[in-house]
Amino acid sequence: MLDKPKAARRPRTSLVAGGAGFVGSHLCDRLLAEGHRVLCVDSYLTSSPETVAALDNHPNFRRIEHDICQPLALDEAVDEIYNLACPASPPLYQADPFHTMMTSVVGTGNLLQLAARHGARFLQASTSEVYGDPLQHPQQEDYWGNVNCTGPRACYDEGKRAAEALCFDSLRLGQVDARVVRIFNTYGPRMQPNDGRIVSNLIVQALKGEPLTIYGDGEQTRSFCYVSDLVEGLRRLMAVDPNPGVPVNIGNPGEFTILELAEMVLALMPTRSALIHRPLPADDPQRRRPDISRAEGLLGWRPQVSLAEGLPRTIDWFRATLGATAPLVRR
Ligand code: NAD
Ligand code: UDP
Repeated sequence: MLDKPKAARRPRTSLVAGGAGFVGSHLCDRLLAEGHRVLCVDSYLTSSPETVAALDNHPNFRRIEHDICQPLALDEAVDEIYNLACPASPPLYQADPFHTMMTSVVGTGNLLQLAARHGARFLQASTSEVYGDPLQHPQQEDYWGNVNCTGPRACYDEGKRAAEALCFDSLRLGQVDARVVRIFNTYGPRMQPNDGRIVSNLIVQALKGEPLTIYGDGEQTRSFCYVSDLVEGLRRLMAVDPNPGVPVNIGNPGEFTILELAEMVLALMPTRSALIHRPLPADDPQRRRPDISRAEGLLGWRPQVSLAEGLPRTIDWFRATLGATAPLVRR
């Protein structure tokens, strides 16, 4: 007797809000490589369709131009939603603070409602900024933070805190299987050259032979995670069963002062650039390093790419993208 033909299995459908951005584009690549169908929802506020142009002919990829502050309705099945939509660079999120706050609050609310209607799993891209200028070091997830709710960073920090509250309320109410990742400074290819963040600024300035801008004395610290490590963490948190029900830090615990980072860039690039100091922006956090024991325990995750490995890869990408031809010097 002939076997009945098996019903073709529908690929898992992942919606990536902010999918044309720096992190989102890498996540789209990864999901497509895993055989998912990907709906990339983006308003192109801090990106452009160019970032994902290479995916446009992929049969499992579709772009939807949409601002998540507006409700979104979809006819097709959606199995999981990643909410990465939000400007992440301080000058860009401060350019239109009302819209930044609404993106995190109204936008996350809209996507949670979409997830509830579709029975989709939900992953919210939160941030180390929920810890503000932290009084605990390194930062563990049970630290409630030190955020100035009236300062220029509040539109981002408080918006992300409200988005976390919406996610955990949706979970408690049994409406959405929502998960929250707190992302620490992430870098890599496809950062926007002009978005004002430290890694892109220093590399672009060195490529152009311009002074490297150091805000304040440069003794403030950050911990830099390579983008492929972050994407691995996002996938693991979305997949883990049962839902941990708590936020999870994803970041690289290697901690560097901004001056140390600038020295690393100078050591890797032949440039006439020198350092120039500029005023420290208001409420700029002094120290930041993730405690990743929760990610290690729950997800078996730890970063694989050190700054010494990831920085040259990122410089190579900027050099190729910006058309500079001088060879990379590794001292
Ligand atoms: P990004 O600016 O490159 O990407 C954000 C994307 O969201 C862009 O494509 C932008 O056009 C889109 N977007 C913004 N507002 C939108 C709206 N209202 N509707 C639809 N699309 C909108 O930033 P990124 O570095 O890729 O960050 C991605 C996410 O990760 C953000 O939510 C950010 O807060 C979070 N995060 C990133 C970092 C980091 O270091 N990269 C650190 C902490 C948290
Ligand atoms: N910074 C700097 N020069 C620059 C851009 C940023 O010294 O050209 C500093 C900034 O003041 C902060 C750190 O680098 O202390 C990281 O800045 P970024 O905007 O990348 O991220 P965030 O402050 O959100 O962590």
